[in-house]
Formats: sequence, structure tokens, C-alpha cells
Amino acid sequence: MIEIKNLNKSYNNQIVLNNLSLVINKGDFISIVGPSGAGKTTLLNILGTIDSFDKNEKTSLLFEKTDLTKLNDKELSSFRNKKIGFIFQFHQLLPELTAKENILLPSMIGKFDYSKSHDNLNKLSSILDINKVLDKKPEFLSGGEKQRVAVARALINNPSLLLADEPTGNLDSDNAKKIQELFKKINKELGVTIVLVTHNEKFSKIARKCLVLKDGKWSK
Ligand code: ADP
Repeated sequence: MIEIKNLNKSYNNQIVLNNLSLVINKGDFISIVGPSGAGKTTLLNILGTIDSFDKNEKTSLLFEKTDLTKLNDKELSSFRNKKIGFIFQFHQLLPELTAKENILLPSMIGKFDYSKSHDNLNKLSSILDINKVLDKKPEFLSGGEKQRVAVARALINNPSLLLADEPTGNLDSDNAKKIQELFKKINKELGVTIVLVTHNEKFSKIARKCLVLKDGKWSK
């Protein structure tokens, strides 16, 4: 589904990703672990098309046959809206919108079919157990509820790939466990391919494949 070859990224003179390659198959659940500063977030952001990488003729970044190195900014943002869901450590919900409006926002931006998006909203709300909070604004939700709303927002457009950067980093252990179980379900029952960056050892082991990144390279 996704094939990255010879990916490089530097900041000034610091090499952050060093000729990295990665194949992600449809249905994979991959966790990426490694010390702080290893390049995990940078890699996730490049996969999510929100960060750039060093131009190099050997680099290839294929996503379902689309060559991401060839898309301009406008094409990349449309691609991202349709194909990629992102979950961050902090929920990043818009405070002035209700949970429901936050969840539906990516479908409105992408001009997705209204009734299909509502059907998906209903399905996701049941899976994520957020039916009761849909009309509330984020300030009235618990930390766990906010993060589950953020998961629904990431999945509303039925993305092929779900990227998550420390999604339990800001949660207590009960809520973290709930999110971990939901990730399992999202991968197994909805068939969504997941790439997860986490420091939580238990969470990294829930993934079917665990990769270790060190100094911008895969470590064995
Ligand atoms: P990790 O997620 O593994 O902790 P990151 O991908 O966040 O690592 O960062 C890798 C390295 O890149 C770090 O040394 C970090 O300081 C550097 N870095 C990340 N973003 C920037 C930036 N915008 N400008 C300069 N250096 C950066």
C-alpha cells in the first residue's frame, strides 16, 4: 500500500532521517518506538504529508500508486483529507465547535456526501462510545472523551491510513487502555491500516509489528 525508499531529512547540518525505507501493507498495524529525538515524529509527519523531506532522485514515496513526490501543496492537502487520518497527543479539537461539528469538519472540507458522513458518524459514535457527548463543546468533555472524539474525526472520511503520534501520552492509565483497545478494534474490524508512535511499551506491543528507530535509521 505504501512504499518509502531512501527517505532523507535534515535540519541545517543535523541528519534526522538517514536513507530510510519502509513498506506498509494494507491492514498493517505498525508501532514505531525509539529514543527521544530519533526522528519518529518527523517520519510520521512526512508519511502524513504535513512535513517535507530532502529532494533526492533516489527517494520514492508511493501511496496506493500515487507518487507523493510529484504532488503540489494543493494536491497534497486534498490527498491528505481523503486518505489520511491523524491523531496527536493533544486532541486539537476546535473549542467553539461541538464534538459532532469537530468530527464532521474534515468531511465538509473534503465535500464528502452528507448522508454518508452522517451514517459514518453514527457508526463511529457507537464504536467509540461518544453518542452522549456529540452536542457538547470540548471544554465540557473529559480527557478520554476528547481523545475519542479526535479518533472519530480522524476516521470520518474512511481514510486508508491512520497515523497516531503518542495518542495516549496525555491520558490516565484507564483512558489509555480504552484507546489501546479501540485501536485494536479499528484495525481489526474496520480494516484501517495504522502507524503508531508511542513511548508506551504495552501499546507498542499491541501492534502487530514493532519497529525501532534510532538516529534516523531502523535498529534491530
Ligand atoms: P522523536 O519523535 O523521535 O522524538 P523528532 O522527529 O521529533 O524525534 O525529532 C528528530 C530530531 O529533529 C530532533 O533532534 C529534533 O530536535 C529535530 N527537529 C525536529 N523538528 C525540527 C525543526 N522544526 N527544526 C529543527 N530541528 C528539528
